[in-house]
Amino acid sequence: MSYEAVIGLEVHAQLLTDSKIFCNCSTKFGSNPNSQVCPICLGMPGVLPKLNKRVVEFAVMLGLATNCRINKSSLFARKNYFYPDLPKGYQISQYELPICENGYIIIKVKGEEKRIGITRIHMEEDAGKLIHEGGASLVDLNRTGTPLLEIVSEPDLRTAEEAVAYLKELRQILLYLGICDGNMEEGSFRCDANVSVRKAGETRFGTKAELKNINSFRFIQRAIEYEIERQIDLIESGGRVVQETRLFDSSKGITISMRGKEEAHDYRYFPDPDLMPVSFDEGFVEEIKAKLPEIPYDKRRRFINEYNLPEYDVEIITTDRDIADFFEETARLFNNPKTISNFIMTEILKELNEKKIGIRDTKITASLLAKLLTLLNENKINTNGARAILPKVMESGRDPESFIEELGLAQISNEDEILKMIDEVLKENQKELQEYLSGKDKLFAFFVGQVMKKSRGKANPKLLNELIKKRLDELASK
Ligand code: ADP
Ligand code: ZN
Ligand code: MG
Repeated sequence: MSYEAVIGLEVHAQLLTDSKIFCNCSTKFGSNPNSQVCPICLGMPGVLPKLNKRVVEFAVMLGLATNCRINKSSLFARKNYFYPDLPKGYQISQYELPICENGYIIIKVKGEEKRIGITRIHMEEDAGKLIHEGGASLVDLNRTGTPLLEIVSEPDLRTAEEAVAYLKELRQILLYLGICDGNMEEGSFRCDANVSVRKAGETRFGTKAELKNINSFRFIQRAIEYEIERQIDLIESGGRVVQETRLFDSSKGITISMRGKEEAHDYRYFPDPDLMPVSFDEGFVEEIKAKLPEIPYDKRRRFINEYNLPEYDVEIITTDRDIADFFEETARLFNNPKTISNFIMTEILKELNEKKIGIRDTKITASLLAKLLTLLNENKINTNGARAILPKVMESGRDPESFIEELGLAQISNEDEILKMIDEVLKENQKELQEYLSGKDKLFAFFVGQVMKKSRGKANPKLLNELIKKRLDELASK
């Protein structure tokens, strides 16, 4: 019997606002415990929450970027439950009328595009954090009231791979919009995965289990794959899947039952009487739309069409919006997009990854990169030279040309000088020369290598090849 999995994801994205959603406390990460709290986010009786407008703007931005309908009037609701990290005894969230609904994201898996529906995006506040240490449990309430967007997908995903592709795309959109830092380890982008299975051909969904808060793409993939297998085995052996919340144990690679799943009515949702409905007009939406950056999907398509680059290159150079912008600025100054993308992929990203920094943390600019590539293009330096100059430019912001002399990188393009080195090498390698002349063609590369070495990597490679070929042909015809 073959089975199909059905997966829907609930993502919580922490927003990059300076202050919390309903008070003026700072949202800065890593401060001393309980140093960023006030009566409002502590949920003292009688205080009044006041909505942070930025949160509404960010929600509308994401709604527009994911093709949602924007509700110009939405409601905050209280979700009631008890937990020590939630002093109020309820979380302010949205329930019946969320700010965004009915959107979609396009993902690509195994070369095929697929549209994944977004049911809703709503605004809510985060709870605090429990720290278990030395046999005691401590509570840090700095995080209470940090603004979140919850993004709920339709059950449109069918494999763990599709789920990961969806999460990566969504995360990239949030990063492009600049409204979330996407840091999964610190919990600013976290995901619950709902998983069920059904027999092939069945139209109804099976009972789902919810996998809670998994904090890396790799773990999400493994947790979903494990859960699909577990449910199939269970059904095959005559059992039934129960609706519950499960945790992923990454050290064992398995999911474990945590608790029975609560139903919506357990929370006694009701409209928060302390907050007015969130209302705005079309003008507010239009203003945000006008400032919205190009979303990753559109940028990738445009780069393929406009710069004629392979899909593979485009995917890499658009992963980070700053790199994509840097590429485009350079392409305006240096008319060979493929050369630029090659250099970014092989050299610049390597430097950035090694130093764990972004392109904006360095002093290189589009015009400096264009200059460097021009030097390479005009054979004033070779690839090795460009490689040596790059980190210096990134560090100093100085003209690449100024390093040629300093690092002794000027390319040797003088024929006589190269011929002299060729003759020396042939003289020093008589045995190889004889073998070459008697038919061992492969030794050609050996001679090129030796002369290059003698020039300390500075010989113009094209010229060097031509001259060796000419010299060897002369010797062969003697
Ligand atoms: P609940 O009320 O139990 O939280 P929701 O209807 O709000 O359920 O859905 C939560 C998430 O679970 C959504 O992302 C949705 O797509 C997904 N989902 C719903 N039903 C299923 C199912 N049978 N299998 C897998 N995912 C599902
Ligand atoms: Zn506060
Ligand atoms: Mg739900």
